[in-house]
Amino acid sequence: MIEMDCSCVQGHHSIPTEVIEISENALQKVAGILKDYHRIFLVADENTYAVAGQQVEAQLKEAGMLSHSLVLPSPALPNAENIGKVLIGAGIDTDPYDINAFSLNPDYILAVGSGSINDTCRMVSYRLGIPYGIVGTAPSMDGYASVVAPLLNGNRKIIYNCTIARHIIIDIGVNTQAPYPLLLAGIGDMIAKYVAILDWEISRDLTGEYYCDNIAHMVLEATGKCIDAASDLKSRNPEAIRRTSEGLILSGECIAFCGSSRPASGTEHMVGQTWEVMDVEEGKVPNLHGIEVGEATFAAIEIFRMLYEETDDKVVRSLIEKYLPDFDRVEALQKTLHLPFTVTDRDRFIEGVLRGRTFRVRYTILQYLYDRGLLERYAAEAYDRVMRKHFYGTFREQFPDWEA
Ligand SMILES: [Zn+2]
Ligand SMILES: [Zn+2]
Repeated sequence: MIEMDCSCVQGHHSIPTEVIEISENALQKVAGILKDYHRIFLVADENTYAVAGQQVEAQLKEAGMLSHSLVLPSPALPNAENIGKVLIGAGIDTDPYDINAFSLNPDYILAVGSGSINDTCRMVSYRLGIPYGIVGTAPSMDGYASVVAPLLNGNRKIIYNCTIARHIIIDIGVNTQAPYPLLLAGIGDMIAKYVAILDWEISRDLTGEYYCDNIAHMVLEATGKCIDAASDLKSRNPEAIRRTSEGLILSGECIAFCGSSRPASGTEHMVGQTWEVMDVEEGKVPNLHGIEVGEATFAAIEIFRMLYEETDDKVVRSLIEKYLPDFDRVEALQKTLHLPFTVTDRDRFIEGVLRGRTFRVRYTILQYLYDRGLLERYAAEAYDRVMRKHFYGTFREQFPDWEA
Protein backbone atom coordinates (compact mmCIF):
# COMPACT_ATOMS: atom_id res chain seq x y z
CA MET A 1 0.00 0.00 0.00
CA ILE A 2 1.22 3.51 -0.86
CA GLU A 3 0.16 6.11 1.71
CA MET A 4 0.47 9.85 2.21
CA ASP A 5 -0.69 12.10 5.05
CA CYS A 6 -2.20 15.28 3.68
CA SER A 7 -3.32 18.74 4.80
CA CYS A 8 -6.52 18.55 2.72
CA VAL A 9 -9.90 17.65 4.24
CA GLN A 10 -9.33 13.96 3.49
CA GLY A 11 -6.28 14.09 5.78
CA HIS A 12 -4.81 10.91 4.32
CA HIS A 13 -4.52 9.28 0.89
CA SER A 14 -3.76 5.64 0.18
CA ILE A 15 -3.83 3.16 -2.68
CA PRO A 16 -3.43 -0.63 -2.58
CA THR A 17 -0.53 -0.64 -5.05
CA GLU A 18 2.37 -2.50 -3.42
CA VAL A 19 5.26 -2.05 -5.81
CA ILE A 20 6.13 0.43 -8.57
CA GLU A 21 9.32 -0.68 -10.27
CA ILE A 22 10.72 1.53 -13.04
CA SER A 23 14.23 0.47 -14.02
CA GLU A 24 16.55 -0.68 -16.79
CA ASN A 25 16.15 -4.38 -16.09
CA ALA A 26 12.74 -4.45 -14.47
CA LEU A 27 11.64 -7.38 -16.64
CA GLN A 28 14.12 -9.68 -14.92
CA LYS A 29 12.62 -8.86 -11.52
CA VAL A 30 9.02 -9.90 -12.26
CA ALA A 31 9.14 -13.33 -10.56
CA GLY A 32 10.79 -11.81 -7.46
CA ILE A 33 8.19 -9.03 -7.23
CA LEU A 34 5.27 -11.50 -7.60
CA LYS A 35 6.78 -14.15 -5.28
CA ASP A 36 3.56 -14.48 -3.22
CA TYR A 37 1.54 -15.78 -6.18
CA HIS A 38 1.61 -19.31 -7.59
CA ARG A 39 -1.10 -19.53 -10.29
CA ILE A 40 -0.41 -16.47 -12.44
CA PHE A 41 -2.49 -15.93 -15.57
CA LEU A 42 -0.50 -13.88 -18.09
CA VAL A 43 -2.35 -11.79 -20.71
CA ALA A 44 -0.67 -10.05 -23.65
CA ASP A 45 -1.36 -9.27 -27.29
CA GLU A 46 0.84 -10.48 -30.17
CA ASN A 47 2.99 -7.33 -30.10
CA THR A 48 3.46 -7.09 -26.35
CA TYR A 49 4.04 -10.84 -26.09
CA ALA A 50 6.95 -10.48 -28.53
CA VAL A 51 8.57 -7.51 -26.77
CA ALA A 52 8.09 -8.61 -23.15
CA GLY A 53 5.40 -11.27 -22.56
CA GLN A 54 7.41 -14.24 -23.83
CA GLN A 55 10.36 -13.41 -21.61
CA VAL A 56 8.16 -12.92 -18.52
CA GLU A 57 6.26 -16.13 -19.29
CA ALA A 58 9.51 -18.16 -19.41
CA GLN A 59 10.68 -16.62 -16.14
CA LEU A 60 7.40 -17.37 -14.32
CA LYS A 61 7.29 -20.91 -15.73
CA GLU A 62 10.80 -21.62 -14.51
CA ALA A 63 9.89 -20.32 -11.06
CA GLY A 64 6.79 -22.58 -11.03
CA MET A 65 4.50 -19.55 -10.73
CA LEU A 66 2.77 -19.55 -14.12
CA SER A 67 -0.71 -21.03 -14.51
CA HIS A 68 -1.17 -20.28 -18.21
CA SER A 69 -1.07 -17.48 -20.79
CA LEU A 70 -3.45 -15.86 -23.26
CA VAL A 71 -2.15 -13.96 -26.28
CA LEU A 72 -4.81 -11.82 -27.98
CA PRO A 73 -4.53 -10.84 -31.66
CA SER A 74 -3.04 -7.34 -32.17
CA PRO A 75 -4.26 -4.68 -31.92
CA ALA A 76 -6.31 -5.80 -28.91
CA LEU A 77 -8.92 -3.13 -28.22
CA PRO A 78 -10.42 -2.91 -24.70
CA ASN A 79 -13.81 -4.09 -25.92
CA ALA A 80 -16.45 -6.51 -24.67
CA GLU A 81 -15.14 -9.28 -26.95
CA ASN A 82 -11.61 -9.16 -25.55
CA ILE A 83 -12.84 -8.80 -21.98
CA GLY A 84 -14.94 -11.92 -22.64
CA LYS A 85 -11.90 -13.76 -24.00
CA VAL A 86 -9.84 -12.91 -20.92
CA LEU A 87 -12.71 -13.90 -18.64
CA ILE A 88 -13.18 -17.26 -20.37
CA GLY A 89 -9.41 -17.73 -20.63
CA ALA A 90 -8.85 -17.04 -16.94
CA GLY A 91 -10.43 -20.28 -15.68
CA ILE A 92 -8.40 -23.42 -15.11
CA ASP A 93 -10.33 -26.55 -16.09
CA THR A 94 -9.99 -29.48 -13.73
CA ASP A 95 -8.91 -32.81 -15.12
CA PRO A 96 -10.91 -34.95 -14.79
CA TYR A 97 -13.90 -32.62 -15.14
CA ASP A 98 -15.86 -32.42 -11.88
CA ILE A 99 -19.60 -31.90 -12.38
CA ASN A 100 -19.96 -30.56 -8.82
CA ALA A 101 -17.20 -27.93 -8.94
CA PHE A 102 -16.68 -24.45 -10.35
CA SER A 103 -13.64 -23.88 -12.53
CA LEU A 104 -10.51 -22.98 -10.61
CA ASN A 105 -9.33 -19.38 -10.92
CA PRO A 106 -5.76 -18.10 -11.13
CA ASP A 107 -4.53 -16.23 -8.03
CA TYR A 108 -3.17 -13.31 -10.04
CA ILE A 109 -3.65 -11.71 -13.47
CA LEU A 110 -0.52 -10.25 -15.03
CA ALA A 111 -1.23 -7.84 -17.89
CA VAL A 112 1.64 -7.27 -20.31
CA GLY A 113 1.00 -4.25 -22.52
CA SER A 114 -0.13 -0.65 -22.29
CA GLY A 115 -3.54 1.06 -22.10
CA SER A 116 -5.79 -1.49 -23.82
CA ILE A 117 -4.44 -4.66 -22.18
CA ASN A 118 -4.25 -2.90 -18.81
CA ASP A 119 -7.88 -1.75 -18.95
CA THR A 120 -9.10 -5.15 -20.18
CA CYS A 121 -7.33 -7.02 -17.36
CA ARG A 122 -8.29 -4.38 -14.79
CA MET A 123 -11.97 -5.06 -15.47
CA VAL A 124 -11.62 -8.87 -15.31
CA SER A 125 -9.57 -8.56 -12.10
CA TYR A 126 -12.27 -6.37 -10.56
CA ARG A 127 -15.12 -8.66 -11.59
CA LEU A 128 -13.40 -11.90 -10.50
CA GLY A 129 -11.90 -10.46 -7.33
CA ILE A 130 -8.38 -11.52 -8.32
CA PRO A 131 -5.49 -9.05 -7.92
CA TYR A 132 -3.70 -7.93 -11.05
CA GLY A 133 -0.52 -6.17 -12.05
CA ILE A 134 0.89 -4.65 -15.18
CA VAL A 135 4.16 -4.97 -17.04
CA GLY A 136 3.95 -1.76 -19.07
CA THR A 137 5.35 -1.83 -22.59
CA ALA A 138 4.85 1.84 -23.59
CA PRO A 139 4.57 5.18 -21.73
CA SER A 140 1.44 6.00 -23.74
CA MET A 141 -1.10 7.13 -21.11
CA ASP A 142 -1.43 7.70 -17.36
CA GLY A 143 -3.81 4.81 -16.71
CA TYR A 144 -1.37 2.27 -15.23
CA ALA A 145 -2.10 3.41 -11.68
CA SER A 146 -5.60 4.69 -12.37
CA VAL A 147 -8.88 3.50 -10.82
CA VAL A 148 -11.16 3.55 -13.85
CA ALA A 149 -11.25 1.73 -17.18
CA PRO A 150 -12.70 3.31 -20.34
CA LEU A 151 -14.07 0.29 -22.22
CA LEU A 152 -15.81 -0.20 -25.55
CA ASN A 153 -19.21 -1.80 -25.09
CA GLY A 154 -21.10 -2.09 -28.36
CA ASN A 155 -21.12 1.31 -30.03
CA ARG A 156 -20.41 3.04 -26.74
CA LYS A 157 -17.34 3.92 -24.76
CA ILE A 158 -18.11 3.72 -21.06
CA ILE A 159 -15.86 4.59 -18.11
CA TYR A 160 -16.18 1.85 -15.49
CA ASN A 161 -14.96 1.97 -11.91
CA CYS A 162 -12.40 -0.78 -11.45
CA THR A 163 -9.57 -1.95 -9.24
CA ILE A 164 -5.98 -0.69 -9.04
CA ALA A 165 -2.89 -2.58 -10.17
CA ARG A 166 -1.08 -4.17 -7.20
CA HIS A 167 2.24 -4.07 -9.05
CA ILE A 168 3.40 -1.73 -11.83
CA ILE A 169 6.57 -2.86 -13.57
CA ILE A 170 8.18 -0.69 -16.26
CA ASP A 171 11.33 -1.88 -18.03
CA ILE A 172 13.05 1.16 -19.54
CA GLY A 173 14.76 -0.97 -22.20
CA VAL A 174 11.39 -2.35 -23.39
CA ASN A 175 9.72 1.07 -23.27
CA THR A 176 12.55 2.62 -25.28
CA GLN A 177 11.48 0.36 -28.17
CA ALA A 178 7.82 1.46 -28.06
CA PRO A 179 6.35 2.80 -31.34
CA TYR A 180 6.80 6.58 -31.62
CA PRO A 181 3.02 7.32 -31.89
CA LEU A 182 2.60 5.73 -28.43
CA LEU A 183 5.33 7.99 -27.00
CA LEU A 184 3.58 11.03 -28.50
CA ALA A 185 0.28 9.82 -27.04
CA GLY A 186 1.92 9.71 -23.59
CA ILE A 187 2.98 13.34 -23.93
CA GLY A 188 -0.48 14.29 -25.23
CA ASP A 189 -2.04 12.77 -22.10
CA MET A 190 0.37 14.79 -19.91
CA ILE A 191 0.20 18.28 -21.50
CA ALA A 192 -3.49 18.00 -20.61
CA LYS A 193 -2.79 18.34 -16.89
CA TYR A 194 -2.34 22.13 -16.74
CA VAL A 195 -5.86 22.53 -18.12
CA ALA A 196 -7.18 19.80 -15.80
CA ILE A 197 -5.79 21.44 -12.66
CA LEU A 198 -6.89 24.92 -13.75
CA ASP A 199 -10.44 23.60 -14.26
CA TRP A 200 -10.26 21.99 -10.81
CA GLU A 201 -9.17 25.28 -9.21
CA ILE A 202 -11.97 27.16 -10.97
CA SER A 203 -14.51 24.62 -9.73
CA ARG A 204 -13.10 24.87 -6.19
CA ASP A 205 -13.58 28.66 -6.20
CA LEU A 206 -16.91 28.80 -8.04
CA THR A 207 -18.71 25.66 -6.88
CA GLY A 208 -16.93 24.76 -3.63
CA GLU A 209 -15.72 21.42 -4.98
CA TYR A 210 -13.18 19.42 -2.95
CA TYR A 211 -9.60 20.26 -3.93
CA CYS A 212 -6.28 18.86 -2.73
CA ASP A 213 -3.34 21.20 -3.06
CA ASN A 214 -0.75 18.43 -2.55
CA ILE A 215 -2.23 16.21 -5.24
CA ALA A 216 -2.48 19.17 -7.64
CA HIS A 217 1.19 20.02 -7.03
CA MET A 218 2.27 16.42 -7.59
CA VAL A 219 0.43 16.33 -10.92
CA LEU A 220 1.93 19.64 -12.03
CA GLU A 221 5.41 18.45 -11.06
CA ALA A 222 4.92 15.22 -13.02
CA THR A 223 3.75 17.26 -16.01
CA GLY A 224 6.84 19.46 -15.86
CA LYS A 225 9.03 16.32 -15.82
CA CYS A 226 7.35 14.95 -18.93
CA ILE A 227 7.51 18.24 -20.83
CA ASP A 228 11.23 18.59 -20.05
CA ALA A 229 11.81 15.12 -21.47
CA ALA A 230 9.50 15.34 -24.49
CA SER A 231 11.86 16.71 -27.11
CA ASP A 232 14.30 13.81 -26.49
CA LEU A 233 11.69 11.11 -27.04
CA LYS A 234 12.20 10.96 -30.80
CA SER A 235 15.83 9.92 -30.33
CA ARG A 236 14.59 7.34 -27.78
CA ASN A 237 16.82 8.69 -25.08
CA PRO A 238 16.41 6.24 -22.13
CA GLU A 239 16.45 9.08 -19.60
CA ALA A 240 13.58 10.79 -21.46
CA ILE A 241 11.66 7.50 -21.50
CA ARG A 242 12.27 7.07 -17.75
CA ARG A 243 11.10 10.60 -16.90
CA THR A 244 8.00 10.25 -19.08
CA SER A 245 7.15 6.87 -17.52
CA GLU A 246 7.59 8.25 -14.01
CA GLY A 247 5.48 11.31 -14.78
CA LEU A 248 2.64 9.26 -16.25
CA ILE A 249 2.62 6.83 -13.33
CA LEU A 250 2.71 9.63 -10.77
CA SER A 251 -0.26 11.24 -12.51
CA GLY A 252 -2.14 7.92 -12.36
CA GLU A 253 -1.25 7.57 -8.68
CA CYS A 254 -2.75 11.01 -8.04
CA ILE A 255 -6.00 9.90 -9.70
CA ALA A 256 -6.02 6.93 -7.33
CA PHE A 257 -5.16 9.09 -4.28
CA CYS A 258 -8.03 11.42 -5.16
CA GLY A 259 -10.45 8.59 -5.89
CA SER A 260 -11.45 10.23 -9.17
CA SER A 261 -9.75 11.40 -12.34
CA ARG A 262 -10.35 15.06 -11.40
CA PRO A 263 -6.62 15.92 -10.98
CA ALA A 264 -5.76 14.56 -14.43
CA SER A 265 -8.82 15.23 -16.55
CA GLY A 266 -10.71 18.44 -17.31
CA THR A 267 -12.01 20.21 -20.40
CA GLU A 268 -9.37 18.62 -22.66
CA HIS A 269 -10.28 15.04 -21.64
CA MET A 270 -13.99 15.69 -21.94
CA VAL A 271 -13.52 17.06 -25.48
CA GLY A 272 -10.92 14.48 -26.56
CA GLN A 273 -12.99 11.61 -25.20
CA THR A 274 -16.07 12.97 -26.95
CA TRP A 275 -14.18 12.75 -30.24
CA GLU A 276 -13.27 9.16 -29.32
CA VAL A 277 -16.93 8.42 -28.56
CA MET A 278 -18.03 9.97 -31.86
CA ASP A 279 -15.75 7.50 -33.69
CA VAL A 280 -17.09 4.59 -31.66
CA GLU A 281 -20.69 5.65 -32.38
CA GLU A 282 -19.87 5.54 -36.09
CA GLY A 283 -18.41 2.05 -35.74
CA LYS A 284 -14.82 3.27 -36.23
CA VAL A 285 -11.79 2.33 -34.14
CA PRO A 286 -11.04 5.34 -31.91
CA ASN A 287 -7.68 7.06 -32.26
CA LEU A 288 -5.02 6.87 -29.54
CA HIS A 289 -6.37 8.44 -26.37
CA GLY A 290 -3.36 10.68 -25.75
CA ILE A 291 -3.35 11.97 -29.32
CA GLU A 292 -7.02 13.05 -29.10
CA VAL A 293 -6.49 14.56 -25.66
CA GLY A 294 -3.34 16.37 -26.80
CA GLU A 295 -5.22 18.06 -29.63
CA ALA A 296 -8.09 18.93 -27.29
CA THR A 297 -5.56 20.51 -24.90
CA PHE A 298 -4.82 23.14 -27.54
CA ALA A 299 -8.56 23.77 -27.91
CA ALA A 300 -8.83 24.28 -24.15
CA ILE A 301 -5.76 26.53 -24.01
CA GLU A 302 -7.19 28.76 -26.76
CA ILE A 303 -10.53 28.91 -24.95
CA PHE A 304 -8.79 30.01 -21.74
CA ARG A 305 -6.71 32.57 -23.62
CA MET A 306 -9.82 34.07 -25.25
CA LEU A 307 -11.59 34.27 -21.92
CA TYR A 308 -8.55 35.90 -20.33
CA GLU A 309 -8.58 38.58 -23.04
CA GLU A 310 -12.30 39.30 -22.65
CA THR A 311 -13.44 38.69 -19.10
CA ASP A 312 -13.64 41.04 -16.15
CA ASP A 313 -14.35 38.13 -13.75
CA LYS A 314 -11.46 38.68 -11.32
CA VAL A 315 -11.47 35.15 -9.86
CA VAL A 316 -11.32 33.36 -13.20
CA ARG A 317 -8.94 35.89 -14.69
CA SER A 318 -6.37 35.53 -11.92
CA LEU A 319 -6.57 31.73 -12.02
CA ILE A 320 -5.99 31.68 -15.79
CA GLU A 321 -3.11 34.13 -15.38
CA LYS A 322 -1.36 31.67 -13.07
CA TYR A 323 -1.28 29.05 -15.85
CA LEU A 324 -0.32 31.29 -18.80
CA PRO A 325 3.42 30.46 -18.45
CA ASP A 326 2.53 26.74 -18.52
CA PHE A 327 0.41 27.26 -21.64
CA ASP A 328 3.41 29.03 -23.21
CA ARG A 329 5.57 25.97 -22.44
CA VAL A 330 3.07 23.59 -24.01
CA GLU A 331 2.79 25.76 -27.12
CA ALA A 332 6.57 26.10 -27.42
CA LEU A 333 6.89 22.31 -27.14
CA GLN A 334 4.42 21.82 -29.98
CA LYS A 335 6.72 23.83 -32.26
CA THR A 336 9.36 21.07 -31.93
CA LEU A 337 7.16 18.05 -31.16
CA HIS A 338 4.55 18.50 -33.93
CA LEU A 339 1.94 16.44 -32.12
CA PRO A 340 -0.36 15.17 -34.91
CA PHE A 341 -4.08 15.97 -34.91
CA THR A 342 -6.93 13.61 -35.72
CA VAL A 343 -9.88 15.99 -35.89
CA THR A 344 -9.47 18.60 -38.63
CA ASP A 345 -13.07 18.94 -39.76
CA ARG A 346 -14.54 22.17 -38.41
CA ASP A 347 -18.01 20.82 -37.56
CA ARG A 348 -16.61 17.73 -35.88
CA PHE A 349 -14.15 19.76 -33.82
CA ILE A 350 -16.88 22.13 -32.65
CA GLU A 351 -19.32 19.29 -31.91
CA GLY A 352 -16.68 17.71 -29.66
CA VAL A 353 -16.29 20.95 -27.70
CA LEU A 354 -20.06 21.46 -27.33
CA ARG A 355 -20.87 17.84 -26.43
CA GLY A 356 -17.76 17.58 -24.28
CA ARG A 357 -19.37 19.84 -21.67
CA THR A 358 -21.68 17.03 -20.57
CA PHE A 359 -19.33 14.10 -21.24
CA ARG A 360 -19.36 13.54 -17.47
CA VAL A 361 -20.64 15.40 -14.44
CA ARG A 362 -17.71 17.74 -13.88
CA TYR A 363 -17.62 21.53 -13.70
CA THR A 364 -15.17 22.97 -16.22
CA ILE A 365 -14.69 26.16 -18.18
CA LEU A 366 -17.09 24.70 -20.78
CA GLN A 367 -19.96 24.87 -18.27
CA TYR A 368 -18.86 28.37 -17.20
CA LEU A 369 -19.07 29.57 -20.82
CA TYR A 370 -22.33 27.71 -21.48
CA ASP A 371 -23.97 29.36 -18.47
CA ARG A 372 -23.06 32.76 -19.96
CA GLY A 373 -24.21 31.96 -23.50
CA LEU A 374 -20.63 32.05 -24.82
CA LEU A 375 -19.74 28.43 -25.54
CA GLU A 376 -20.72 28.24 -29.23
CA ARG A 377 -18.74 31.34 -30.19
CA TYR A 378 -15.72 30.17 -28.19
CA ALA A 379 -15.82 26.67 -29.74
CA ALA A 380 -15.85 28.08 -33.27
CA GLU A 381 -13.08 30.57 -32.60
CA ALA A 382 -10.98 27.94 -30.80
CA TYR A 383 -11.05 25.84 -33.97
CA ASP A 384 -9.70 28.69 -36.09
CA ARG A 385 -6.99 29.51 -33.58
CA VAL A 386 -5.89 25.89 -33.06
CA MET A 387 -5.63 25.16 -36.76
CA ARG A 388 -3.80 28.39 -37.46
CA LYS A 389 -1.30 28.15 -34.60
CA HIS A 390 -0.77 24.52 -33.65
CA PHE A 391 -1.52 22.24 -36.59
CA TYR A 392 1.43 20.37 -38.15
CA GLY A 393 -0.36 17.63 -40.07
CA THR A 394 -2.81 14.87 -39.39
CA PHE A 395 -2.01 11.61 -37.61
CA ARG A 396 -2.55 9.68 -40.87
CA GLU A 397 -0.19 11.99 -42.76
CA GLN A 398 2.50 11.58 -40.14
CA PHE A 399 2.00 7.84 -39.54
CA PRO A 400 0.41 6.31 -42.68
CA ASP A 401 1.25 2.73 -41.63
CA TRP A 402 -0.24 2.87 -38.12
CA GLU A 403 -2.63 -0.05 -37.65
CA ALA A 404 -4.74 0.70 -34.61
ZN1 LIG B 1 -4.98 15.69 0.07
ZN1 LIG C 1 -5.92 10.53 -20.19
